[in-house]
Amino acid sequence: GSERPRPHVVLLASPLASHVIPLAELARRLVEHHGFAVTLVTFANLSLLPAHGLSSCLPPAAVSTAVLPAVDMDDVPADNMIQVFTQLSRRSLPNLGALLRRISATAGPLAAFVPDIFCSEAVLVAGELGVPAYFFLPSNLNWLALERCFLELHRGLPPGEYHSFPGDVELGEGVTVRHRDLPALFRDPNSPDFQQVVVNARRYLLADGFLVNTLDEMEPALVEAFKLTAEHGAFPPVFATGPLIRRPEPEPDVHDRDCLEWLDRQPVGSVVYVSFGSIGALSLEQTTEVAAGLEDSGQRFLWVVRMPNLTFESKTAAVAAGGNDDGDPLAWLPEGFLQRTAGRGLAVTEWAPQVRVLSHPATAAFVSHCGWNSTLESVQAGVPMVALPQGIDQGMNATVLEGKEVGMALRPPAREDGIVAREEIAAAVKELLLEGEKGRAVRRRAGDMQQAAARAWLPEGSSRRALEEVATKWKVACGMEK
Ligand code: UDP
Repeated sequence: GSERPRPHVVLLASPLASHVIPLAELARRLVEHHGFAVTLVTFANLSLLPAHGLSSCLPPAAVSTAVLPAVDMDDVPADNMIQVFTQLSRRSLPNLGALLRRISATAGPLAAFVPDIFCSEAVLVAGELGVPAYFFLPSNLNWLALERCFLELHRGLPPGEYHSFPGDVELGEGVTVRHRDLPALFRDPNSPDFQQVVVNARRYLLADGFLVNTLDEMEPALVEAFKLTAEHGAFPPVFATGPLIRRPEPEPDVHDRDCLEWLDRQPVGSVVYVSFGSIGALSLEQTTEVAAGLEDSGQRFLWVVRMPNLTFESKTAAVAAGGNDDGDPLAWLPEGFLQRTAGRGLAVTEWAPQVRVLSHPATAAFVSHCGWNSTLESVQAGVPMVALPQGIDQGMNATVLEGKEVGMALRPPAREDGIVAREEIAAAVKELLLEGEKGRAVRRRAGDMQQAAARAWLPEGSSRRALEEVATKWKVACGMEK
């Protein structure tokens, strides 16, 4: 007989490596394990995807891709992430609607639409088409629980009235986020960005569910908390379907070869890998402290150095002092640092093949900004971390990592001004590499988490079962399965 068309799932990714990467992996699993046809949609505009890493962000050939046509964004300040993503998805809605209609008319029944959480307005298009909408959250349940508390804080308030959290936030089931770890977006009720966060969060309630890039064993208390809110109909159901992370390319590309070859020449378990993500940058002051901390630790390191985040003052001061203002990030490292650490330290600029680096036998620890993808990659590789969160969700991610359920990171304390000093960095690096008592415990927990992450995707594993449950709902909803 004639083959029935496969049910189709459309995923929509904001133009960020940290969103495209896990969605590409979700796409692969939906195709390979659950029999869907999948289209991963990205935006032609404003691609913040790094040129070097792009090839390894894309899904395998079995996943179709589509690109939403560029829309005019000239009037939106490029440095305001929340406005950029809000406007980009708003202005793309007509194109998105047209694309979804075309897919359902030509490629088979639409089983679900899964925009990432930065495209909250896209949920309206799914509503018009009568397609189930599930948000994909590339962060963790701490973030989602914070959004839920934020909604609670604004429930029943008249339009135009906004409140911020007065202190630490109790996320549920004994999980607390300290006030200083709250993302900046949630702090100032007078800012338009804060108000936009309220609007976005209210749209989350329109979704049929959430897929979150985490696993039960990393956030067991909040998994339970969300089960309860779903049972009471207070919040859409939440599925922990992680870790979804990039697989390394079978052949590293030419650009990546140098640092992998350098790692090959280092002793097993001797190198600390240092990286602060695909977009974020350190302040010049924090860069200096990281450099000094690495130097003072006496340990081997591989550091992905990016241009520091320069304030106007630091820039003019540096230029006045005869420093340079061009695009070479290495020029901003302390005077003589590269010479003094030559042989035991390698600084690469812009990009390293992180998944391969973390799983390399020479790599012993990861000094990280705790972006959630980086965190999950460290979990998968069983590598303990030194947490230097810089903003957005990273303070909360660090809270997860240092908490008793995970316990796979040391978090050196920051000074009053937010900078983590060189002594603290050096001490944490030595604690992990030279295996102090705390360092040993943290390393053991990293190994435990690695095993938990592998178990989560076994046939009876928690993430595999959660994704299976969602897949079945989707097939039933589009009449492909009873
Ligand atoms: N990444 C990489 N090489 C680098 C820097 C980053 O491969 O030199 C990848 C990293 O493996 C991760 C992603 O970029 O998959 C960064 O995502 P994350 O959530 O950690 O941080 P963000 O970039 O969003 O701050």
